[in-house]
Amino acid sequence: MNDPSRFLTALLTWFATQQRPLPWRKDYVPYQVWIAEIMGQQTQMERVVVYFQNWMEKFPDINCLAAASEQEVFKAWEGLGYYSRAKNLRTTAQILLENYGGRLPEKETDLLALPGIGPYTAAAILSIAFNQAVPLVDANVERVLCRIEDIVEPPKQAATRKRLLQCCASLLTEAEPRSCNQALMELGALVCVPKNPSCTCCPVQGHCQSWAAGTVPLRPTLVKKPLRIDIHMACGIIVHQNRVYIQQRLMEDVWGGLWEFPGGRIKEGEQAEAAVQREVLEETEFRIQDLRFFAQVVHHYSKYRVTLQAFFCRVTEGQTPEPVLHAASQFRWVTQAELDAFAFPSGHRKLIGKTASFSSLLQHYVSPHPT
Ligand code: SF4
Repeated sequence: MNDPSRFLTALLTWFATQQRPLPWRKDYVPYQVWIAEIMGQQTQMERVVVYFQNWMEKFPDINCLAAASEQEVFKAWEGLGYYSRAKNLRTTAQILLENYGGRLPEKETDLLALPGIGPYTAAAILSIAFNQAVPLVDANVERVLCRIEDIVEPPKQAATRKRLLQCCASLLTEAEPRSCNQALMELGALVCVPKNPSCTCCPVQGHCQSWAAGTVPLRPTLVKKPLRIDIHMACGIIVHQNRVYIQQRLMEDVWGGLWEFPGGRIKEGEQAEAAVQREVLEETEFRIQDLRFFAQVVHHYSKYRVTLQAFFCRVTEGQTPEPVLHAASQFRWVTQAELDAFAFPSGHRKLIGKTASFSSLLQHYVSPHPT
C-alpha cells in the first residue's frame, strides 16, 4: 500500500460516521463481543442483531449463561443452525466461571483452549473486545484488501492469506486496532460488496489499485465452489389424541439435543411414504398408517441442500402410544401450542411454522381411527 497513513485516515473518518450501530459496539463488553462473533459465523448481520438482543435478555452475562439449561440455550439459538456452537457457548461459560472468575481471558493460548473458539474467533475477541493489535481477515477484509492491492492470486491460497494478514497487521501499527479491523470489515460489508461495489462513493477509492487498473470485477479471484449435495428426507408427524409425537435426538448425533419428528433419509428408489414408515419403525417401533402429505420444505446447510417431506399419520390401531426409542434420548406427546417450547432443527421448525395447514391436518387426525 502506497500511503497507509492517509489510507487509514480516510477509512477511519468514514467509519466514525458510517458504521452500523451494532449493540455490542456500545461498550465492547468482552462477553457480548464473543457472543456476537459466534452468532455472526455464516449469518447475516440483521439476523445476528435480533438473536443477540434476545440472547442478552435471557443470558445477560457469563454467570447467567453458565447457569442456563442446555434446552434454554438451544431454544435461544433456534434458527441459527450449527447447534454445537450453542452447546460450546454454554460449556465455555461454565469453564470461564470455574477457571477465570467469570471473565474471558486476554491471552490467545487461553482463548484457543476453550470449546468453540478457533484462531479467528480468538483474534476477534482480542482485537475487538480487548483492543489488541491482532489482524482480523474475514471474507469482507479479504475482498477489500485484494481489491486495494489488486491481488491476482485467490485469497484462500496459503501465500495470499499470509500476505493479507501481513497487510492488515501493518495497518494496525498505525491506528487503534479495534477501529481499524472493524472499519475494514465494515467497508467490505457496506461499500466494497461482492457484486457492484460502490466505488464512486468509496472513501479509499484513491488508494485502490483495482479501481485504477479497471480490474474491480475480477477481484478477488474466485475459485469454483464445489456443487451442492442434494439430500432427500422424510418425516412423520404422528398424531394421537390431539397431540403429536416428538423425540429428542441423541447428543452424539448431528443436531444432538434438538427435538424432531421421527424420520430420515429416503433411500434410492424408495417412495417418501415408505421411507417414513421404515424410519419411524426403526426409530420408535411404531407401525403407522393413514399417511397424508403435509408439506415439503427445503433448507440449506453449508454444502448440502436438504429437501424434507412431511406426512401426517397415526399409529396403527391397537398399538400403545409408547415408543421403543432407538434414535432418541426421550420423547413427548405434545399439543401444537406446546411445540414452541422445544428447539427444533430449521427444517422441522419450518414445518411447524405452517400453522394453519398444520392445525387443519391435526384436526383431521384427532378423529378416531377410520373404520
Ligand atoms: Fe472496493 Fe471500489 Fe473502494 Fe476499491 S474503490 S476499495 S473496489 S469499493
